[in-house]
Amino acid sequence: MTLPAHAEAVVIGGGIIGCSTAYHLARDHKMDVVLIEQNRLTSGSTWHAAGLVGQLRSSASITQVLKYSVDLYKRLDRETGLATGWKMTGCLRLACNADRWIEFKRLATTAQSFGMEMHLLSPAEVKSMWPLMEVSDLVGGTFLPTDGQANPSDIAQSLAKGARMNGAKLFEGVRATGFEIKDGRVVAVNTNAGAIKCEKVINCGGQWARQIGAMADVSVPLQPVKHHYVITEKIDGLATDIATVRDPDRRTYFKEEVGGLVMGGYEPDPIAWTQGDVPDDFEFQLFEDDWDHFEQHLREALARVPVLANTGIKKMIHGPESFTPDGNFILGAAPNLANFYVGAGFNAFGIASAGGAGWVLAEWVAKGEAPMDLWGVDIRRFSDLHQDRRWVAERTLEACAKHYTIGFPHEEYESGRPRIESPLFRRLKARNACFGSKLGWERPNWFAPDGAEPRDIYSMGRQNWFAAVGEEHRAVRERAGVFDQSSFAKFEMKGRDCAEALSWICANDVARAPGRLTYTQMLNSRGGIECDLTVARLAEDHFYIVTGTGFRTHDQGWIADHVKPGLDASLRDVTEEWGVLSLMGPRARDIIAGVTKSDMSNAGFPFGHVREIAIAGHQVRALRVTYVGELGWELHIPIAATGDVFDALMTAGADHGLVPTGYRALESLRLEKGYRAWGSDITPNDNPFEAGLGWAVKLRSNLAFLGREACAAAIHAPLKKRLAGFTAADRDVVLVGRETILRDGKQVGYLTSGGYGYTIGQPIGYGYVRNSDGVDDDYLSSGSYELVVAREVVKARLHMAPLYDLENLRVRS
Ligand SMILES: Cc1cc2nc3c(=O)[nH]c(=O)nc-3n(C[C@H](O)[C@H](O)[C@H](O)COP(=O)(O)OP(=O)(O)OC[C@H]3O[C@@H](n4cnc5c(N)ncnc54)[C@H](O)[C@@H]3O)c2cc1C
Repeated sequence: MTLPAHAEAVVIGGGIIGCSTAYHLARDHKMDVVLIEQNRLTSGSTWHAAGLVGQLRSSASITQVLKYSVDLYKRLDRETGLATGWKMTGCLRLACNADRWIEFKRLATTAQSFGMEMHLLSPAEVKSMWPLMEVSDLVGGTFLPTDGQANPSDIAQSLAKGARMNGAKLFEGVRATGFEIKDGRVVAVNTNAGAIKCEKVINCGGQWARQIGAMADVSVPLQPVKHHYVITEKIDGLATDIATVRDPDRRTYFKEEVGGLVMGGYEPDPIAWTQGDVPDDFEFQLFEDDWDHFEQHLREALARVPVLANTGIKKMIHGPESFTPDGNFILGAAPNLANFYVGAGFNAFGIASAGGAGWVLAEWVAKGEAPMDLWGVDIRRFSDLHQDRRWVAERTLEACAKHYTIGFPHEEYESGRPRIESPLFRRLKARNACFGSKLGWERPNWFAPDGAEPRDIYSMGRQNWFAAVGEEHRAVRERAGVFDQSSFAKFEMKGRDCAEALSWICANDVARAPGRLTYTQMLNSRGGIECDLTVARLAEDHFYIVTGTGFRTHDQGWIADHVKPGLDASLRDVTEEWGVLSLMGPRARDIIAGVTKSDMSNAGFPFGHVREIAIAGHQVRALRVTYVGELGWELHIPIAATGDVFDALMTAGADHGLVPTGYRALESLRLEKGYRAWGSDITPNDNPFEAGLGWAVKLRSNLAFLGREACAAAIHAPLKKRLAGFTAADRDVVLVGRETILRDGKQVGYLTSGGYGYTIGQPIGYGYVRNSDGVDDDYLSSGSYELVVAREVVKARLHMAPLYDLENLRVRS
């Protein structure tokens, strides 16, 4: 065996993900690909997977990725001559209580929204499909007919053969041992059999991906966790095409295998494997059987399928799989090493994901841009926090334990907290704040009234904080509220060519006079929205950029990746240097005038401006913007002074009814005002014209910017979808997102955001209305609308203007 000295792309890892990525790179992009596997193909986690293939996820794009897998597994054998064992058995999910049943009804609506069939079944119908099952404890079940099962090793070998047929070279027994990095790019992969020079590297190292990443200083936050299932002897009467079963209330799953059952589960107390390095020679290996730990699953399985009591167990499969802190896999370009890609951390659904994950990862590698909205799995959703292995392990075990628990809306993780406290943490806690956490930051979600406990009590209907958040909302609309938004990600760009650099990256005109700030999107080459942020020009050669807490790594990476070479424009993350207080509401000016000598009048400090002002003896950077539709300022304060400024505002605001307010009120306020949220309402799948943000695109100027051609093309063709607001006529309906939109009784889209507006007193949703012949104002206004909410059809109204628009900025300025 002689390794080539060069390859365009080197894929590390010969599990199902590496094989799929190599296959797609070679087949779709004709790339010169080398795959190296340290042991033998499939010998990591792939060979011992159970082989259930489900498709439905809460994100439309990820569901599309999984659907692609099924389409591929169905036909791959015809292409390669190697069978995948694919059987479209369908999947039954079982509900044993009322909350689970609501969750399933919402799930079935999500399936409808994403163009999939999912049926709701009575216990008797479940029984007729699966006669060996005990159903007396069931409320009902769902059936997704296009799910199925396959043989993991066979799929991987079939993909490997397909890769070879398209010219990829696959080598077993070759281990990546390090990387040569020059000018921020990998130029060669070192192996135990020599170096391979290359243009791109893809780390598909499964549970080894963390340590492979570490060799290039790329953080891949995952934790190997032990996972197990058993295979039974043959069971009389079990059909070979019987549906796979997920029984989440009993934390177990089932699949037919050679006349018997595979039965496994996700326990509430999962066990992490090593927190050191995974041994290189862990090849086709398993852990010792752990019957004590597995007993909980056996007990539940026996209650569900009583015939198991008389059925022998052939063997236990007890192996490692990599899990991640949020239960989603990890894909994309490393933020700090542009040509180093990752496809890892598959949380026990790597077989289901592999076909599609390899397809989108190959697109990403070949074109340098994700082909669709993959934010939920993007490696850039993590931050430095995720380099802390103990924290990652703790959070990962919590996520893993939640694999089968009911997913309540607004649920927060509990482990590894508090991690990052803003300077106001103690003050806000003393005021009865109930905190949530975002990228490690503790942030006030809401404030409990005196005497009440600041704790979320989750439910499928209105939750215990509903009334308290209503009070905060009203305070902001009628008086003023102050939000601690210190967790905002903040960057400074300095240098002679900043304006030129940002002008290219931003869709709006940000190269305005010093003292101005601009709301802008950053677009990909398809015109899709990659970032949504505020850019303030502080001086000719100095910009200040503010974006959402969770988008820190992503947006910094996007900006850094797109500064044209040779420009004098250096970007620095200054998040921890600045606290942020957003003072919002009609009394905001009266309050701030009480703490600063600066001119805060509308003439002296108009909307869209940034000024340095002094408060409580501290120099504060005040940005006149709003995300709630009220008069207000975002005050960016040197972090150590945040407490002083907060105290000064609270004192000055006492007579004006100022109260501290939280993120749940912020969400309600922004929904009424129609402000878009990146990641849900606006994503890389949506262009600004579809999103109603065309006014923020500098198409009328002659300035070049990334995405300009796509935008120009978009406005010259009918838009095939447009974002609209909706209110539900039934005030008690709970909207959470993904509800189906019906126009004149026909499905035209689904909600991207859902919530409640306390000023208008109605549930609010946003979503794209789609029509292949075009969506214009007439089309929108001529339809009559309904929403499908947890399978119930409710009357709705469509709104193109903000639901709350007092024009108060003008009226009250
Ligand atoms: C008990 C169990 C049941 C499961 N059941 C299911 C299921 O029903 N459905 C489902 O979808 N998923 C299931 N999974 C999950 C599934 O097995 C994994 O998600 C999937 O196999 C991950 O594939 P991979 O290619 O990322 O990793 P792996 O298969 O582990 O491949 C990674 C490869 O990288 C190689 N490698 C590592 N370091 C190097 C290096 N330095 N140089 C070269 N090569 C290297 C390794 O040797 C390994 O072969 C299950 C997992 C377990 C443990």
